[in-house]
Amino acid sequence: MTVLDSIARRGEVTIRDLSKSFTLNGRRLDVLRGIDLHVPGGEVLAIVGPSGCGKTTLLRVLAGLEEPDRGDVLIDGAPVHGIGRQRAVIFQEPRLLPWLTVTENVAFGLEMRGIDRATATEQARHWVRLVGLAGFEAAYPRQLSGGMAQRVGIARALTVQPEILLLDEPLGALDAMTKLTMQEELARIWREQGVTMILVTHDLEEAIFLADRVLVLSKDSGTPPRVIDLHLPRPRDRSASGFVALRR
Ligand code: ADP
Repeated sequence: MTVLDSIARRGEVTIRDLSKSFTLNGRRLDVLRGIDLHVPGGEVLAIVGPSGCGKTTLLRVLAGLEEPDRGDVLIDGAPVHGIGRQRAVIFQEPRLLPWLTVTENVAFGLEMRGIDRATATEQARHWVRLVGLAGFEAAYPRQLSGGMAQRVGIARALTVQPEILLLDEPLGALDAMTKLTMQEELARIWREQGVTMILVTHDLEEAIFLADRVLVLSKDSGTPPRVIDLHLPRPRDRSASGFVALRR
């Protein structure tokens, strides 16, 4: 592989013949069956589908939090098992540590990785500013709004400088206005960081605004998922897309 190839592949995800079932009350539930998918590096893919169709399960398998029964997950061409530095997950609830400040919450993950406190704090301050929380470095989680808390969650995920951000309904708990602001924020982070984003969402408007392609899962795992290519221009700009203007 040449250097150029490896740059082009950064954050590329390939799923091959992936299946996952659960056993519930003695009954086997096939959630994902024979899924094949290729996500080029730097793409934003939204995963949509009815409740219970396996969106979170697929994201958890990609994150290495769940072992598939069969099939492979490849990142940049190499099979991966378990959690790894290339991927960071953002959940609906950021689950911040209440006794730590914003900066300390973000630095905590770095310290857990063996980075000394002074360096971790300096790097944490950078990410806190990057997600628009300058001035709130010393605030505690109870002093933050839902949107601000989720910004801390995003900063914490970005500290590991992942190639791939996996987002499970990251804005699902926020009010409508905050959601719009945070969607712009995710689009900006995507533009600036050049990460691959795989986003589970219930919100089709969010999928259309953020994603290059949409993976539609069906509740019947025997029905293969469909991939819809949105062919939207980059960079994302709500006012330019006319999408919001049309609704006004
Ligand atoms: P979605 O995110 O699309 O709502 P999930 O991936 O959370 O769906 O769940 C898909 C199905 O798998 C659901 O029927 C759910 O009850 C089941 N499921 C998910 N995780 C587990 C588990 N750990 N044990 C048993 N069943 C599970």
